[in-house]
Amino acid sequence: TTDTGVVAEPACAARSVSLPLPVLGADVRVPLVTGGEVSYAALDYAASAPALRRVWEDVAAYAPYYGSVHRGAGYLSQLSTDLFETSRADVAAFLGCRADDQVVFTRSTTDSLNLLAAVLPTGTRVYVFETEHHAALLPWERQEGVSVTYLSAPRSPAAAVRTLEAALAGQATAGPALVCVTGASNVTGELWPVRELAATAHAHGARIVLDAAQLAPHHPVDIAELDVDWVAFSGHKLYAPFGSGVLAGRADWLRAAEPYLAGGGASRTVVRAADGGVDVAWHTTAARHEAGSPNVIGVYAIASACRALTEAGFDALVEREQELIAAVRAGLADIPRVRVLSLFGDDAPRVGVLSFVVDGWNSSHFAAALSAEYGIGVRDGLFCAHPLVRTLLDSEASEPGECGAPDQAPGGSGSLNAIRVSFGAG
Ligand code: PLP
Repeated sequence: TTDTGVVAEPACAARSVSLPLPVLGADVRVPLVTGGEVSYAALDYAASAPALRRVWEDVAAYAPYYGSVHRGAGYLSQLSTDLFETSRADVAAFLGCRADDQVVFTRSTTDSLNLLAAVLPTGTRVYVFETEHHAALLPWERQEGVSVTYLSAPRSPAAAVRTLEAALAGQATAGPALVCVTGASNVTGELWPVRELAATAHAHGARIVLDAAQLAPHHPVDIAELDVDWVAFSGHKLYAPFGSGVLAGRADWLRAAEPYLAGGGASRTVVRAADGGVDVAWHTTAARHEAGSPNVIGVYAIASACRALTEAGFDALVEREQELIAAVRAGLADIPRVRVLSLFGDDAPRVGVLSFVVDGWNSSHFAAALSAEYGIGVRDGLFCAHPLVRTLLDSEASEPGECGAPDQAPGGSGSLNAIRVSFGAG
């Protein structure tokens, strides 16, 4: 409040901005505990970004007409099948896929990376930095016949490349190997040297999957140009609603493996076998890993977001985000005891994602106050990247927090967890 007792709107909430791409929910007003109401500033895009208006309109235009996909002869089934496969082509174009890449529709980035883990050939060695989001850190170790090397947190992009180089060079064994790396950190927003890591992986005969959950909403992701083998991302972070994700890339391991889920849609023919069981011929297309009736509307929404971003281009979005990041940094620099978290150093390029702590403050209390007193929605906690946040906080936290809001490590000290602000289109 001001000294006259009037509730002051924070500058970022009151400011009228021209938006690169309009989103839904940009005009929500919320009540404050201190009285009155204020324009809501949604600064938690890294968790889930609001849907673009265009996506919502596309979905609304199509929603009354959906029918079964790849399963019906009727007009609505044909229309839905056509939209489903056109959506696949749109996503492939958005990602710059190579001619023989497959685009598999999943539920999310987590689902995509678990799918990839499930199709790894036996004996695959996986290399993953300890700094990854849990979705990229955890799926590998639980696969039978797969070994995992966790790489320690590098303190610069060049150190990341050197760490990977040393790890791969130290393992002379032939055989399949996979590197998993994020494009942009969901904690610091910092960009990782994907192209260089891909070149290093390939020089040692390894493959690489890019976790683009945080990169794709902010930057063009071109699978061929980055020369990565697979890309995974989520619709709900790419300005589409929940429930759809993508794994795109090399078809060979996907084709060779057992289907991720067994069921209709993945199977081409099923016959009773002489031994009393069943013989199944599975599809060799993306359908192999898409058993069950698909999330047609989610897929249509993700493709709509891809089209909208492709048409708008990323230039205005990147420019706007960089302005906002600079404004946030300048504002935070004026507040005593604020520490912005960074793995690669203060000047490292980052997308519209930034985390900080206020030394001596409990981050959850701070985040709750931002919401209740200023109408600013942020995230607090360890952001499903516990090892990374621990490294950044340099804390000796004895017990892990739960993954999920508020994802708060126990103890109540402000230095055990952090606050994140993030934004994007709109
Ligand atoms: N990877 C990164 C870098 C993320 O930020 C997230 C979500 O926050 C994920 C993976 C998992 O995405 P989802 O929850 O949509 O599966």
